[in-house]
Amino acid sequence: MKALTLTEYKHLEYGDAPDPPVAADEVLVRVRACGICGSDVHGMDGSTGRRRPPVIMGHEASGEIAVVGKQVVGWKAGDRVTFDSTISCGQCWYCQRGLVNLCDHRRVLGVSCEDYRQNGAFAEYVALPQRILYRLPETVSFEQAAMVEPVSVAVHAVDRTPVALGDTAVVMGTGMIGLLVVQALRVAGCGKIIAVDLEAEKLDLAQKLGADVGLKADACDVVEEVKRHTQGQGADVALEVIGLSPTIHTAALCLRKGGTLTLVGNFRPSVEIPLQAVVTRQLTLAGSCASNGEYPACLDLLGRRAITTDALISATPPLAEGAAWFNRLYDREPGLLKVILHC
Ligand SMILES: [Zn+2]
Ligand SMILES: [Zn+2]
Repeated sequence: MKALTLTEYKHLEYGDAPDPPVAADEVLVRVRACGICGSDVHGMDGSTGRRRPPVIMGHEASGEIAVVGKQVVGWKAGDRVTFDSTISCGQCWYCQRGLVNLCDHRRVLGVSCEDYRQNGAFAEYVALPQRILYRLPETVSFEQAAMVEPVSVAVHAVDRTPVALGDTAVVMGTGMIGLLVVQALRVAGCGKIIAVDLEAEKLDLAQKLGADVGLKADACDVVEEVKRHTQGQGADVALEVIGLSPTIHTAALCLRKGGTLTLVGNFRPSVEIPLQAVVTRQLTLAGSCASNGEYPACLDLLGRRAITTDALISATPPLAEGAAWFNRLYDREPGLLKVILHC
């Protein structure tokens, strides 16, 4: 098959790769679309230790079933599918309780690290266990379906946050996930959504996608502005989608007493938190990791266009041109959001 392989750090090659073997409980998927994730772009230079060459990256994908393993039930060749970015083991304590995102033996597609190498979907074919497959509604295209993983990260983060009808929410960071969080908060019934970022264009986009207010963090006092928009009380919930001390600090101070701060971004392994504000204002901090069972709901939201990805997809070039697009993303070309490769 053809594949885009990270052959050495910062070097991707499009060429022939062996067809993946298909186990009895697996299907072989003919990949149609696979999105380039920020973690692939950051990882390709070796800085994260999770993309050790040689590896075929890619974990945000969709396609059609080509081959069905002997023990597979309920799926047939031609079925349009997407799949979890993570292969959960299906056996451990967490998997048995449905907490597949916390699986003790999770292997992320397209990741090679100290513990495992799991080739991903920047290829014509990928082999996957049937337990991580999801059927695509007719209303969802392969490109939309390749966005379901980032959509599910946003929806899971909102699921982890106690949002009541009419609540005010602050979203710190309006990159890809932040823009999806804004839309998910709208679906969840928030009254007022306040987006915070440093880039004016991203704030404009956030407002087009459902934020009521955009605050440019270097042009105003964010905490004061949030208070002004909430009769001096502070926001009910805040979602931090960056993962740095200053933004987590600001997010915590934006909250009313008893509010919840959901932590999604993890740019830094450790950060400082304003401990006394958290304790004396009785804030709840919630971590949110990947997603857990939200795919069907997300596919439905995409199919009904309650969450839209059109404004977030910058280009859909063929897999053969993938290396050049990786480089453009690595060089942080302004205005480039999601690039989805046709495989
Ligand atoms: Zn990703
Ligand atoms: Zn498990």
